[in-house]
Amino acid sequence: MRRGFLAASVGLAALCSLAAPLLAQETVDPAELQRIIAQHPNWAKWLADPELAKLTLASPKMPNSQWRADDIRRPQPVHVATGTTCPAPPPSDAEVLFDGKNLDKWTGDHFSEWTVKDGVLTTGARVYNFIKTKQSYGDVQVHVEWKTPLQPKPPLNPQYWGNSGVFLMGLYEIQILDSYKNETYPDGQAGAIYSQTPPLVNASRPEGVWQCYDIVFRAPHFSGNSVTQPARITLIHNGVLVQDNTALIGATVHGEVAHYAPHAAELPLALQDHGNPDSHVSFRNVWVRRLNPG
Ligand code: MG
Repeated sequence: MRRGFLAASVGLAALCSLAAPLLAQETVDPAELQRIIAQHPNWAKWLADPELAKLTLASPKMPNSQWRADDIRRPQPVHVATGTTCPAPPPSDAEVLFDGKNLDKWTGDHFSEWTVKDGVLTTGARVYNFIKTKQSYGDVQVHVEWKTPLQPKPPLNPQYWGNSGVFLMGLYEIQILDSYKNETYPDGQAGAIYSQTPPLVNASRPEGVWQCYDIVFRAPHFSGNSVTQPARITLIHNGVLVQDNTALIGATVHGEVAHYAPHAAELPLALQDHGNPDSHVSFRNVWVRRLNPG
């Protein structure tokens, strides 16, 4: 959710606004809203918020799709059980970004919000912010282990429940969320390319259980102001393929149709703190391997 920090910090925001399509001025059909709530009573609380209802039912249409951005009406991915382990110690040619000891390879505008204790990195869950790597990456393999907190169910808003994200190049989000028995719009659940592409299946484990992402990211290529090769993401979630060389339509946005703006060939990797009170997300065993350009 929300733009990657780099879109704002490196002057791309102006480019984004120039290239952004006009938002559709559409409204929610009250009868349709009531029909959806009747079918899914657990959504009644958050769909009672007119802004959230508009976000998920009246956002712009996605290109080449019958769905809108963040559309709750998309079919929910089928859940797949995946055990409890993440058997991926760093290979010998990996660059370890977090080994449980310190954050020497990271920085950020709210760096002190993030804590390291007992080998685990945890979000402050107070302020929306990112930590980003000091190094930049283009094409890269990424391994991240993460865990969402124990929280009372149901949440006021499913997006407030263990929300974090892995932002490739600080711009392209793979969503982290408690998506175990916590239905939200499918392009906003764990394993989704946020606001673009739901996971093929829901491989989520329960809250409080470690989960793992193994990511292959291919950076976009640009020629002038045009994208000549879109970013692509393959994602293995808890050992299950959930994104199969998926082409991205642009940098992550929320409730809009994404689009590209030219940027550097390499940029920092970032992790998101969504800032929802007491909804701390934890990380361990984070490493990367640079790949030859695709
Ligand atoms: Mg997120």
